Amino acid sequence: MMRQYELVEKVSRYNPAVDEALLNRAYVYAMRAHGSQKRASGDPYFSHPLEVASILTDLRLDDATIAVALLHDTIEDTEATREEIDRLFGEDIGKLVDGLTKLKKLDFITSEAKQGENLRKLFLAISDDVRVLLVKLADRVHNMRTLGAMREDKRQRIAQETMEIYAPLAGRIGMQDMRDELEDLAFAILDPERRQMIQDRLDEQLEQSDAIIGTIIETLQAKLAEYGLASEVTGRQKRAYSIYQKMLRKGLSFEQLSDLYGFRIIVSNAAACYRALGIVHTTWQCVPERFKDYISVPKENDYQSLHTTVIGPYSRRVELQIRTQAMHDVAEYGIAAHGFYKDRASEDGRAMQELRKESLAYAWLRRTVESLNGDDTAEEFLDNTKLELFRDQVFCFTPKGRVIALPRGATPIDFAYAVHTQIGDTCVGAKIDGQLMPLLTELRNGNQVEIITSKAQVPPPAWEQIARTGKARAAIRRATRLAVQSQYLGLGRSVVERAFERASKPFDVEAIEAVLPKLAHRTVEDVFTAVGRGELASRAVLTAVYPEAKPVDAGPAPVRQEGWFGLEAATSFQFRIPEERAQVDAPASGGMGGDGPPVRGLDETMTVRLHTEEPPIPGDRIVGIVTPGEGVTVYPIHARALAAYENTPERWLDVRWDIDPAADRRFEARLKATTINEPGSLAEVSTIIGKHDANIDNLVMARRGQDFHDLMIEVQVRDARHLHQIITDLRSNKVVSTVERASGEATVDTPDAAGDRAA
Ligand code: MN
Repeated sequence: MMRQYELVEKVSRYNPAVDEALLNRAYVYAMRAHGSQKRASGDPYFSHPLEVASILTDLRLDDATIAVALLHDTIEDTEATREEIDRLFGEDIGKLVDGLTKLKKLDFITSEAKQGENLRKLFLAISDDVRVLLVKLADRVHNMRTLGAMREDKRQRIAQETMEIYAPLAGRIGMQDMRDELEDLAFAILDPERRQMIQDRLDEQLEQSDAIIGTIIETLQAKLAEYGLASEVTGRQKRAYSIYQKMLRKGLSFEQLSDLYGFRIIVSNAAACYRALGIVHTTWQCVPERFKDYISVPKENDYQSLHTTVIGPYSRRVELQIRTQAMHDVAEYGIAAHGFYKDRASEDGRAMQELRKESLAYAWLRRTVESLNGDDTAEEFLDNTKLELFRDQVFCFTPKGRVIALPRGATPIDFAYAVHTQIGDTCVGAKIDGQLMPLLTELRNGNQVEIITSKAQVPPPAWEQIARTGKARAAIRRATRLAVQSQYLGLGRSVVERAFERASKPFDVEAIEAVLPKLAHRTVEDVFTAVGRGELASRAVLTAVYPEAKPVDAGPAPVRQEGWFGLEAATSFQFRIPEERAQVDAPASGGMGGDGPPVRGLDETMTVRLHTEEPPIPGDRIVGIVTPGEGVTVYPIHARALAAYENTPERWLDVRWDIDPAADRRFEARLKATTINEPGSLAEVSTIIGKHDANIDNLVMARRGQDFHDLMIEVQVRDARHLHQIITDLRSNKVVSTVERASGEATVDTPDAAGDRAA
């Protein structure tokens, strides 16, 4: 354990004006307060605050911060009180110790809402005085170094919190060295086997490495000296965690990693950095696209350096960072470094605070804290902060071990497209870690994902909303467009063929080609597509080719020929399914069944109904709209009708489905479909729907055209997934030209309702 005088000596080495009396008082006070307390390891408790103080002296922090480090656990763990500390050490120090006491109670491994709120408190404490964060980080470093004696579940929790919150925070305020250490220590606890594997490989190489590193350093130094440039060159082996990250990011094996070592050239000023770069580049071949100039454009955490990679001695790739001593200190110590070059005579740390305000990292802290003053909810704050601060990627593996990096929230669909566009286009299912899982499943770090493909598959348009990556979305849009196009083309062609057949005229593509100008289309394919889309009547094609031909209609109401529906040959008709069938599958009125909508998050006394024009079904994201005196109406989130309530957010209510999987409850959904005007097409539509064990409640023919019918179909379905299966099957049938949910939006079923059912 460090002695009292040793600590004072350490501080006075960088700060000759050290307030010895203050440090001595804090040392004695904390030692007495902790008394005979022991740490989990059996060490005297006081060794902990002392080590924290020692870590902070390495960062050359001011006396007040060192004193706070010594005192940081006294209010929480001993009889000491804020008042006493204020009285003995002044309010400044009292406030800092108090801030740290509050931070200690924050738990970040908890529900999202709680986590957001706690993160908000953390940032507020930091913004008051960034020294709170510096002490907290040093505290965390020492705790992580001595975590061995803890209970396993506690270790996991602390390590996870370190990886998710404190390591990124350290990086964000520029303390790269501290970040590296925190990550590596957490890695060793969260994934001990993987870390050991990498560490063993590093150790194996160590002997050989030492020689190589030495030679490269000598060669670099000699070369720079040749040009009269004084420099200090250092080389080091990277840490296991940063190597692991690189393997994941680049999808490389350990053997393939070329840069296990990093080299640093430190020169006297910025101009010398560029000179050194010139010398390195004229001596060795540089690797294109690896050069970065962070001197003229510093990173947001104030980091400055020139980065380059060259093919150096031994034909090895050598990664180089070129910087000045001041830049180096900022890179290692971040915000804390800004105090280094200040006149230390102003002892109270005020000088340091002024300097901090000039730094970019400090500006980032300010911005984040300012965003706290907005009225984000805790979750939103967490989201916004996570975007900036947290690791935003997940890394998954193909069955062959290739690593695929994806943004957080990515699904197997994104994974499939990341592997290959064709895999994405033909994807029909996925196994995650050997288990068949819904394609909506959010992937997690380390998942092994196997994509099941089928040549017959065309990506459903609804996938576009499930996919997170731009690549997947663009590919889905493209595939959908092509599929729709080829569908229209095939559809149009068969419609034209039949029109010719009915008129007893030979179908002849060349003849159609000859009359293209008359039809105002450039190609025969365009003609067919236009017919398929309903933009051009098949009879127009027929009479263009055979002006004398008399088009024969498909019949006034082809469905009537079936004798099945008993339809009127009217422009609009309604059709009800037989009563007894309706009762079997939809036991209660309005398709609701049970006592009321199975929706949670509502006051029990309120009357609840589902919106009738755009009814929601389980699997839809839903929202309730309150009408005072009447009750709550539940809408799917994509309902057009919601636009009317945009300016009255106080009427919006968060609601969720509450589905009993045992009850086979049915819900009304509406489909808009266009079918080919052809005998039997309506029967075919109803057969498909019947096959899926769904009832048609009502079927309205909204418009009858020459070649197509527009239908409005009301069906009783279990949930969005059920409806989606029906839509998919209808789409694949040749008599159906288009079909979609009547509310206009593509259906996306969410795992909380629909997914559970399938599982
Ligand atoms: Mn502590």
